[in-house]
Amino acid sequence: MSIDAAQLTDAVLAALPHGQFIGGRWRPSDVTFDVVNPATEQVLDRVADGTPEDAVAALDAACAAAEAWAATSPRERSEVLRRTFDLVLERRDLFAACMTLEMGKPLAEAYGEVTYGAEFLRWFSEEAVRIEGRFSIAPSSGQRVLTMLQPVGPVYAITPWNFPLAMATRKLAPAIAAGCTAVIKPAHETPLTTLLFIRALQDAGLPAGVVNCVTSTHSAAVSAPIIADPRLRKLTFTGSTAVGRTLLRQAADHVLRTSMELGGNAPFLVLASADLDKAVQGALDAKMRNIGEACTAANRMYVHESIAAQFSARLAEKMAALPIGNGLDEGVRVGPLVSPRQLATVTDLLQDAVSRGARVATGGTRPEGAGYFLAPTVLTDVPTDARVFREEIFGPVAPIATFATLDEAIALANATEFGLMSYVFAENLGEAAYVVERLESGMVGLNSGVISDPAAPFGGVKESGLGREGSHEGLAEYLETKYVGIRL
Ligand code: NAD
Repeated sequence: MSIDAAQLTDAVLAALPHGQFIGGRWRPSDVTFDVVNPATEQVLDRVADGTPEDAVAALDAACAAAEAWAATSPRERSEVLRRTFDLVLERRDLFAACMTLEMGKPLAEAYGEVTYGAEFLRWFSEEAVRIEGRFSIAPSSGQRVLTMLQPVGPVYAITPWNFPLAMATRKLAPAIAAGCTAVIKPAHETPLTTLLFIRALQDAGLPAGVVNCVTSTHSAAVSAPIIADPRLRKLTFTGSTAVGRTLLRQAADHVLRTSMELGGNAPFLVLASADLDKAVQGALDAKMRNIGEACTAANRMYVHESIAAQFSARLAEKMAALPIGNGLDEGVRVGPLVSPRQLATVTDLLQDAVSRGARVATGGTRPEGAGYFLAPTVLTDVPTDARVFREEIFGPVAPIATFATLDEAIALANATEFGLMSYVFAENLGEAAYVVERLESGMVGLNSGVISDPAAPFGGVKESGLGREGSHEGLAEYLETKYVGIRL
């Protein structure tokens, strides 16, 4: 049965505000860009195409509001976040449908993201009232040591298209909790969910100027004047490592605080002692969440040679059974990729692997008709020099290779410049601990295919980024420590 897609689309479009949100007002724009539904290739809505002048106006508004917002009581900031949490959940149908429409993820997963994304608002509403300093006596000098935590200052947040709600709440909730003001620029593929979220913040009573939003197709041009402005104190970015590097270079000029959530290339290790049922289900979860368009997605599956044939056959069977289609249709588990560009990237990687001798166990095809769909694909006998093992796939393709020893598995897993996420499946906990301690990644899923949680520190090492989001660490990213030495 198909949910009434037309009715749902109309409800989302009717709820959407239009314009740049600057200083508490929606500023209309004559110049717009199209937001396209990747399942139908139809234009969903037209959104204001921001200019560098809009960006500067947004930063002006954030700077004008900064002092007053930093001076609010933690309880006041906490309650705005809590009210926003309630509003997002009240509007969950709109948020979920909006994400499916602009990004393609199946509706059930979009509801999952509403819960996950909203939870950052609740978590940081609770953290806002626990910002503490400390007092101690220096052991040698006897000087008193007082430390206080203060908001870092105006923040610029750049978000990607793959989790349109959660990436915005994961950055803005801690910024608001800490007492920072902000400008956010969502990805041009998925600006609509951010606009709905900004409306919820506004309805929850967030004062004018505390959060401002610029939508634009000119991401470099609108970002440059904000990052070059000495009033900006913090840059937080989620997206590709290539863009992250460029932003870090720009941030160096004013020695900005930065948080960088960049690309991943997660190894998925199945040790000889693994429970195959758990490992296959874990692989399916880790690969197919968000149609494979997640930086935590299992990118390279390395399976012990004694169980590789069984594992590959069972994973291929499960992947082949996943229903593909428009995410609004009931029962669909695999939506389209977000754009023709993303489809072309994933298809190229797939073809490269096949040309080097990989075998297609299932998938590799595109269904007929509109939409940027690709069937869930399992590749076996993949040579380790295939691009699919070195680059982030960001799509529903699972390449599998084998290993013989634990040390070989660890070497394969760490042979990448990325270090965001790793997965290990094993029932022998001694072996599991040996591997987990040697993996070069910020996060490890041990017998778990999905571990992202607002209460846990999310982030990578090596070229996967800097800093952590969520948990207590996520708030610290928006606070500066001031030390006052007191001689009594
Ligand atoms: P991207 O890095 O190009 O874009 C992410 C965000 O940065 C978007 O808002 C975009 O508009 C903005 N941006 C792009 N260039 C910019 C610039 N020069 N200055 C300022 N902002 C800029 O990522 P993408 O095009 O959305 O996807 C490309 C690849 O990035 C994906 O294939 C995937 O590998 C990776 N990616 C990673 C994540 C993650 O969560 N780590 C999320 C999305 C994409």
